[in-house]
Amino acid sequence: MIAEPGASNPSRRRVVVIGAGAAGSMAAIFAATSGAETLLLERTADGGRKILISGGGRCNILPARVDESRFVTDSSPHLLRKIVRSWPLREQVAFFEKEMGIPLAEEQESAKLFPVSNRARDVRDGLLDLAARRGATVMTGTTVTDYAPGPDGWRIEREGGPPLLADADTHVVEAALINPRLREEDLTTALRRDDARTTLVEAAAASTRWAPSYAVKLAIVLQPRTPLPLVLERISSLVPRDLRRLALDPSLRPLIQAAARKVIEQESETS
Ligand SMILES: Cc1cc2nc3c(=O)[nH]c(=O)nc-3n(C[C@H](O)[C@H](O)[C@H](O)COP(=O)(O)OP(=O)(O)OC[C@H]3O[C@@H](n4cnc5c(N)ncnc54)[C@H](O)[C@@H]3O)c2cc1C
Repeated sequence: MIAEPGASNPSRRRVVVIGAGAAGSMAAIFAATSGAETLLLERTADGGRKILISGGGRCNILPARVDESRFVTDSSPHLLRKIVRSWPLREQVAFFEKEMGIPLAEEQESAKLFPVSNRARDVRDGLLDLAARRGATVMTGTTVTDYAPGPDGWRIEREGGPPLLADADTHVVEAALINPRLREEDLTTALRRDDARTTLVEAAAASTRWAPSYAVKLAIVLQPRTPLPLVLERISSLVPRDLRRLALDPSLRPLIQAAARKVIEQESETS
């Protein structure tokens, strides 16, 4: 999820959702429910304004019955059917009634489900409340101006505040590492961060472009979250000055200090 660089819990996935409309609120609910540190950014003061005017202010939440033949696509009909069936109507009704606490009623003439209260506001408020109850942070009055993949995840720029960071999946990290605009100092800064992700460390170690760089090797070795085999593979290629630093650094794992001492001893025996 979230957040201001350096301010998040490294053990949880960080998800940023842009826009607290119907889609964004649901995305935030499911991301937070799955355990991610979730931040929902909304440019207006409240969010979900289209929901407020939907269904003439009553919000037609769902159809009363699903007729698959009415779902059309220029793409694969098989894929569309899979999507439609992935969350069956009865489960969606249960979600709104039980998890959001909004009882629904069918309007017979249109075969549509509306909240019993006939108030779209209940739906909008219910979605945002549930997102917050599940642990998402809802940040209103926040306009996102840009977002781009970087070596330490997605960087989200917003008006009037520092950028936010969200985790990227492996493909995004790999794409960032081959971006010609990525500089060595950007990557080593990302590798040195306390909350650097193991995905980044592993991708940098496997990258044909970055793995041979001395500064990157050193940053990988010094990163406390680097898997031990990746550290041990690189220690013997460090210069004596850095090996001495490693051997004396009490913040490093004892095995790494011992490995550095061993390389120093071996090098002094051969010289
Ligand atoms: C008059 C009307 C009646 C309708 N009636 C129904 C109905 O009865 N039933 C039904 O199912 N559907 C209805 N719809 C459609 C339904 O309202 C929309 O499909 C749905 O609300 C769209 O939700 P969304 O999350 O995709 O988009 P939006 O509601 O547009 O949400 C996008 C959100 O992102 C925010 N945002 C945009 N840019 C940024 C940025 N740069 N940074 C931060 N935040 C940003 C916006 O402020 C907004 O809150 C109706 C629509 C209208 C207009």
